[in-house]
Amino acid sequence: MVGNYSMIRHIKEYAKENNIPIMVDDGIDFLTTLVLKKKATNILEIGTAIGYSAIMMALVDPKVRVTSIERDEVRYLEALKNIKAFELEDRITLIYNDAFHVKLDDKYDLIFIDAAKAQNIKFFEMFEHNLKSGGIIVTDNLKFHGLVAQEEDTIKSKNLRGLVRKIKEYISFLKSNTKYDTEFFDIGDGISVSTKK
Ligand code: SAH
Ligand code: MG
Repeated sequence: MVGNYSMIRHIKEYAKENNIPIMVDDGIDFLTTLVLKKKATNILEIGTAIGYSAIMMALVDPKVRVTSIERDEVRYLEALKNIKAFELEDRITLIYNDAFHVKLDDKYDLIFIDAAKAQNIKFFEMFEHNLKSGGIIVTDNLKFHGLVAQEEDTIKSKNLRGLVRKIKEYISFLKSNTKYDTEFFDIGDGISVSTKK
């Protein structure tokens, strides 16, 4: 019997070897604590990668159910494998598709946006109707490895500059969105928590 701890370590090693940007340790601690504190039992995740954050959230409590969307086939298949290894198939539902093609009717306590960083506003607007009132939308990577705080002209790559600009736009969008109270946390790679009023 392989314990959860060593299976989690294995997932983290696989992510490192294959350059898969899973949540960093203090980020995942923050997220799982939030799931616990908010008693979130129905969770939607945009961006499964290999299932790490979905599994960690599901392990918070046996009542937790996660639906998670991933568009990359290799990652989706790896996530399926990992979820089976944890015997969480009945509580984690994976959707293999581009999130922009996914229409959901369910309502969730927590929506976790952790996919293409330039698309955060679109993901937010597309899935906010799936949020219960009093529910929260959590977004990862608002610091984008420190690049968001960096002077723009010191970022050499044009693509990265564009991405950083989009993340800044998303932060302004959250700050000016009066339907939500948003708090920003300098934890992990930068996390926002937007509570629906
Ligand atoms: N939440 C994961 C990490 C996700 S990494 C964890 O912490 O364990 C971001 C993932 O989002 C990538 O695997 C990428 O393929 C996926 N992604 C990006 N844009 C997407 C989209 N439009 N639809 C579905 N998945 C997307
Ligand atoms: Mg992330």
